[in-house]
Amino acid sequence: MHAETRIRGSGEFLTMPFIDAKTAAHKHYDVIVVGSGAGGGQIAYTLTMEGVRVLMLEAGRTYSATEAAMFQTPDVAPLRGISTPDKNFGFYDATVDGGWQVPGEPYIVGTDAGDTNFSWWRARMLGGRTNHWGRISLRNGIYDFKPHSRDGLGIDWPISYEDMARYYDKVEMLVGVYGANDGLENTPNSPEGCLLTPPKPIVSDLLVQKHTARLGFPTIAGHRAVLTEALDWKRSPAKLHPGNVTAQKIIARDMQRRAPCFWATPCGNGCAIRANYQSTTVHLPPALDTGKLDILTDAMVAEVRMHKSGLASGVRFVDRKTGKSMEAHARVVVLAASAFESVRILLNSHPNGSREGLANSSGRLGRYLMDTVGSSLGGQVPLLENLPPHNEEGASGGHMYVPWWGYKDQAAGKLDFPRGYHIEFGGGRRMPDFDSMEGIEWLTGGSYGTKLKEDARRYYGSFVGFAGRGEMIPNEKSYCEIDPTVKDKWGIPVLRFHWQWSDHETRQAEHMQKTFADIIESMGGRVWPRHRAGGKAISDGGSIIHEVGGAIMGDDPHKSVVNKWCQTWEVNNLFLADGAPFPSNADKNPTLTIMANAWRVGDHIVDRMRKKEL
Ligand SMILES: Cc1cc2nc3c(=O)[nH]c(=O)nc-3n(C[C@H](O)[C@H](O)[C@H](O)COP(=O)(O)OP(=O)(O)OC[C@H]3O[C@@H](n4cnc5c(N)ncnc54)[C@H](O)[C@@H]3O)c2cc1C
Ligand code: SF4
Repeated sequence: MHAETRIRGSGEFLTMPFIDAKTAAHKHYDVIVVGSGAGGGQIAYTLTMEGVRVLMLEAGRTYSATEAAMFQTPDVAPLRGISTPDKNFGFYDATVDGGWQVPGEPYIVGTDAGDTNFSWWRARMLGGRTNHWGRISLRNGIYDFKPHSRDGLGIDWPISYEDMARYYDKVEMLVGVYGANDGLENTPNSPEGCLLTPPKPIVSDLLVQKHTARLGFPTIAGHRAVLTEALDWKRSPAKLHPGNVTAQKIIARDMQRRAPCFWATPCGNGCAIRANYQSTTVHLPPALDTGKLDILTDAMVAEVRMHKSGLASGVRFVDRKTGKSMEAHARVVVLAASAFESVRILLNSHPNGSREGLANSSGRLGRYLMDTVGSSLGGQVPLLENLPPHNEEGASGGHMYVPWWGYKDQAAGKLDFPRGYHIEFGGGRRMPDFDSMEGIEWLTGGSYGTKLKEDARRYYGSFVGFAGRGEMIPNEKSYCEIDPTVKDKWGIPVLRFHWQWSDHETRQAEHMQKTFADIIESMGGRVWPRHRAGGKAISDGGSIIHEVGGAIMGDDPHKSVVNKWCQTWEVNNLFLADGAPFPSNADKNPTLTIMANAWRVGDHIVDRMRKKEL
C-alpha cells in the first residue's frame, strides 16, 4: 500500500512511507496533523515517539533534501540564479513550490481606509517553510510571555517562561542550535548540553562588535539551528525521552546520521547532509522510523468535519492529484498549516451551518494577526576594503547578533516606543551573485575595464547590512476574514487580510534606522542607500514572514480561541500547533517557540489520551 521514496541521510538511506489518498481515507488514526512544517513536524514527532498513530496531511508536494542544490553556482543557473516571480528567493532556493503568490490560490488584501500593504508567503511542499528558513532560533524571554503585565499593552500568554523552558531545552537538543549563554536581560540562557559551539566571528562581525560596545550595547553569538558539531547522541536521547527506550534508540540512531556543517553552501538551498534544521530532515525521518506515521502529500485540507457529539471527526481535503474531495478520520485533529492557513480552515468550517466558523464563539478567530517589525539599512566601510584573502567561511547566516538592549531606557521613559528589537547583520565575502556589485558607481564614480575589476576587488567584502527584527503589538485593525466571493482553484473560500501598523511599530522602525546609521558611521563607514524615515522605514505587513496570531490562547473563553493547551474552547479534540495561538510576537524569531509549544501540546495530548480523556 505504501509508495516508498528513499531519502539520503549522511551516508544512509531512510525510508519515507507515503500513503495514497484512498488508503488514508479508509484508515482510522489516533491523530490527524494538518501541515508538515515546524509545528506539524514537531507535533508528529512528539506523538509518534510516544506510540500514537498519526496521519499527516500536507497540501504541497513531496520533497526530500536530496533535491537541495547545495553545490551549484549562480553562473550556471538560468538568469544567473536571480529571483523570478516563480522562484522569489532565486533559482536554487529550497522552496520548490510556493512563494509570495501560489498560482490558483489567491488571497485578498483589504482596501478599506487605513489598510496598508500586506503580503503572505506560503510554501506548498513537504516541510513547508522549514526547508528554506533562516534558522535563527531565539528563545522568548521571561518578559515576552507577560507583555501586558509589564506595560499595559497587548495580551499576556496564559503560560510563563517556566512552562516553556524545558521544551526549549528539548527542541534545542533535538534539532541542534548553536549559540552561547550571555546572561543578558530577557535573553535566556540554556542549560548545559543544549547549545552547540557557535562559529567564530568573521572580520566584519568583530568590527561591529567593537563599535556597538562603544555605542553601549552588546553583540553576542548568534543562535541558529545548524550543527557546528555532532549531536550528543549518547546523552541527549535519555533527556529527550525519559523512560522511553524505543524512542531513545530511534533518536540516538538518527542523530548519528546527521553530519555537522561544512560551512560552504547556502542553507536557503536546503541541506542534504542534514546539518541544519528542516522538518524533512530532522523531524520526519525519526517519526517515520517509529512506524506510526503516515504522510499524505497533495492533500489540501478545506475544513474540519464534526460529529453530532460536538467532537471533530476528521477533516475534508481535496486530493490535488485528482481534484476529488475526500475525508480522513481520527480521534484528535491538530491544525498546523501555518498560522493564517489554520485560521482559514477554522473559518471555513461551518458546523450546523454556522456562519462565523468553528470554535469562534468569542468572535476572536482571525483577530490579532502579527508579523515582525522589519527595517534594514546597509553601508560601506573603508576599513574593510582591500583586505588580504582570508578564511571567511561559515554558516550561511549570522554568526553574531545584537539582542535588544533598551529595557532600562524604556522603563525610564527615554524611548518613544514600547518593546524591543534585535539586530541581525552580515558582511564579508560570499559567493558573488548576479547583482553583487550593483550600483558600485556610487563609490567609484563610474569605471570601466581593468579599473572596474580593480574597483570590484577593492570594494567586495567592504559592505555591511543591518536588519532590525522588532516586536509588533497585536491590534484590532490587523485581522483576516473569509472573502465572500473569491475561491481558490480547489473551490475553497480564500482569506481577505486587513493590516495596520500602529505608531508603536513605525516609531520603532525609525529608531532602527537611526541605530544602524550610528553603527555604520561609528565604524567610519557611509550609509547606503539614503537614510529612510517614517512610514517608509517599516517593512510591509507579512513581509518578514513571521506570521503568528489569529487564534490566540488565553484563560478566558470570551477573549481567546484556544486554552493554554492550544485546545479550542469549543471542540475538545481540536488543537492548534503552529503560530496561530501566539498572543504576542516578541522580537525573537518565532519558530523555536512554535516548536517548543508544539512539543508541549503534543505531551498534553498524549497524557490526555492515556487518561482516556481524548
Ligand atoms: C525566507 C524565510 C526566512 C525565515 N527565517 C526564519 C528564521 O530565521 N527564524 C525563524 O524563527 N523563522 C523564520 N522564518 C519563519 C519560519 O519558516 C516559520 O515560522 C515556520 O516555518 C512556521 O512553521 P509552521 O509549521 O507554522 O508553517 P510552515 O513551515 O509554513 O508549514 C505549514 C505547512 O502546512 C501546509 N499547508 C498549508 N495549508 C494547508 C492545508 N490547507 N492543508 C494541508 N496542508 C497545508 C503547507 O504546505 C506547509 O507545508 C522564515 C521564513 C521564510 C520563508
Ligand atoms: S552551510 Fe552547513 S548547514 Fe547550511 S546548507 Fe551548507 S552544510 Fe548545510
